[in-house]
Amino acid sequence: LRFASLGSGSEGNGLLVEAQVGDTTVRVLVDCGFGRKDCLMRLGALGVDPASLSAILVTHEHSDHVGGVATLARHLGLPVYLTRGTAIASGLFAGVQKGPELRFIETQEGTATIELMGLQIEAVTVPHDAREPVQFVFDDGHSRLGVLTDLGHVSRHVEKAYQNLTALVLECNHDPAMLARSEYPAMLKRRISGDYGHLSNASAAQLLAGVDRSRLGVVVAAHLSRQNNTEDLARSTLAEAIGASSKEFWVADQDAGLEWLPAR
Ligand SMILES: [Zn+2]
Ligand SMILES: [Zn+2]
Repeated sequence: LRFASLGSGSEGNGLLVEAQVGDTTVRVLVDCGFGRKDCLMRLGALGVDPASLSAILVTHEHSDHVGGVATLARHLGLPVYLTRGTAIASGLFAGVQKGPELRFIETQEGTATIELMGLQIEAVTVPHDAREPVQFVFDDGHSRLGVLTDLGHVSRHVEKAYQNLTALVLECNHDPAMLARSEYPAMLKRRISGDYGHLSNASAAQLLAGVDRSRLGVVVAAHLSRQNNTEDLARSTLAEAIGASSKEFWVADQDAGLEWLPAR
């Protein structure tokens, strides 16, 4: 199991997850907040032939996650996995006659398991100001990759689902002091720091400190705010929480994304 980022942040997100199941390579794209051309360019930079993708998974309807999904899925003929709430709220597929094939994620008690060509994918509901947002945990039987961005706080439910991971892509959206000092309007500040907004560095660090890390080898800080965070702050806050060195953490960049990393 390995993964790479096409870019991460409020201007657009996309994460590639690739698993080798027997003779088959399963390659999924989680979210696509980039336009078609931009997305194809970013895929090319990671050495991925767009025609080799198996599916697109969508976490929620915010434009930094769905902006390019409909056109890309149609262009490549890919199925799109998403909750009904996300499909409705995004409005992307309403009235489309020949849209992409939609496969609905139906959570029960906040989780759903999807099997895609032998790759197990758990969808986990998260507290975020969207209609029916989910995040994903990927498991190929050896490695277990948790992807967790766009949530206002770490609920008990989330904490339970993100255990026993070998790799974690974790939202470190903002530094609370930088957010408080920023030029953002008060309402936006409240939204971001609220229970259904985005994870601060400190909340991310708290999750990291609380999970079982015995198998955890790779941690990537993601969805950093350009205005209200820095790579150094995100890294050092995570590092301090678990007594590690900041050098041990990766950061998924808005422009450059992140190169392929093994999920172990
Ligand atoms: Zn987002
Ligand atoms: Zn969002």
